[in-house]
Amino acid sequence: MKIICIGRNYVNHIEELQNERPTEPVIFMKPDSAVLLKQHPFVIPEFSQDIHHEIELIVRINKVGKYIDTKFAHKYYDEISVGIDFTARDLQDQLKSKGLPWEKAKSFDGSAVIGEFLPKTQFSSLENLTFELTINNKTVQKSDSSHMLWKIDELISYISQYFTLKIGDIIFTGTPEGVSAVKPDDVLEGFLEGNKLFRIHIK
Ligand code: ZN
Repeated sequence: MKIICIGRNYVNHIEELQNERPTEPVIFMKPDSAVLLKQHPFVIPEFSQDIHHEIELIVRINKVGKYIDTKFAHKYYDEISVGIDFTARDLQDQLKSKGLPWEKAKSFDGSAVIGEFLPKTQFSSLENLTFELTINNKTVQKSDSSHMLWKIDELISYISQYFTLKIGDIIFTGTPEGVSAVKPDDVLEGFLEGNKLFRIHIK
């Protein structure tokens, strides 16, 4: 199983990090060892003083595909959730400034939180799904899928031009604005249309 992540998919988040607006999706990956095991706390790694939360809509691939046309992409996933793309922002800034790959900052153990999946048929449309991250019961990130530069089906099509999608692969579709550092004892909860899909303790 692989995790494919999209960067810079929300204009307001691009602006908060003062990144350039991309002309095509930015892609990076996390290995399966990045998945935070269920019921486990997220332990802040020693190599970073600035671990940021990024809540994202995620989908799970249910069919093998390559060169998928956008109009058929909806057949390749039937479940949706929210997750966190934990990012060592200090390390990422160093790597970015040297033009080096981001993996150490993005793909370390526990950096991928995967919420409980819901059938997409539960929602009348995927075009304006609201999702939210709270820390200690306070909302820190809130957006909806209408603000995505590239929609889920466009992302699946784009990714599949380069990487064969397999059953169980997960796509993280990018974070909206509001990213910030987590600290020990924080409790993070992720919601999709009001459904609580994960709860993570920071250590
Ligand atoms: Zn992200």
